[in-house]
Amino acid sequence: SWKLALQDYIKNPEGHKNEVIIYDEEAVIIKDQFPKSAYHLLVLTRNPLVSRRHPTIGLTYDIKEELKPYVEIAQDYIYQEFTKKYKVLNSGCFFENDDELLDKDSFVENFIQVGIHSVPSMTNMHIHVMTKDFHSIRLKNKKHYNSFTTYFWIDWDSLPLNKIPDSKETEKKYLRDHDMISVYNGENFDNKFSKLKQHISDEFNYYFTSR
Ligand code: 5GP
Repeated sequence: SWKLALQDYIKNPEGHKNEVIIYDEEAVIIKDQFPKSAYHLLVLTRNPLVSRRHPTIGLTYDIKEELKPYVEIAQDYIYQEFTKKYKVLNSGCFFENDDELLDKDSFVENFIQVGIHSVPSMTNMHIHVMTKDFHSIRLKNKKHYNSFTTYFWIDWDSLPLNKIPDSKETEKKYLRDHDMISVYNGENFDNKFSKLKQHISDEFNYYFTSR
């Protein structure tokens, strides 16, 4: 089924040269096929038992320790690619100036989010590593946006949780009932998705420009 769409990347990374950034025996880093931000990667464990665990409880301190180097490779890749393409045009949101953007620690700290969804759609364990701009044509609805910007999103530092969240309740609370709040300035867009899209595009182009 489509829920197993990530399975073949861990079984056969050689067969996906276009999407695979790097792999070894332990993990695979791929490009998300439907990126919800300018840069959006997924870190997948190749351990078949770990891969089938629910990430909220399955990303134990031990597993996190094993996967941390791959998360860092993904962050580094995104830093390299983003800074090659963009520079800071105006200060006031993620960076005060271009030097801050070019500082890797500052870039990773201010502009990359690492984590998982409370209710993942894909079965194989995957960790999202992405920029925080949400400037992407693949971001097509409220659920997409809220899944990364509300407590539906579980940050790496908060893992593991002590239990698997109730999926129906969590989806209702955060994906459907929660307003869309701008990550740029906190403005509440209520349910107005096309207004939010315009806002994201305007903000992105205000803060960043091609290098
Ligand atoms: P989830 O909601 O399960 O945390 O996220 C699953 C992610 O996998 C989504 O961001 C989605 O865009 C991505 N995705 C779904 N199918 C594929 C696929 O076949 N290939 C790749 N590379 N990414 C996929």
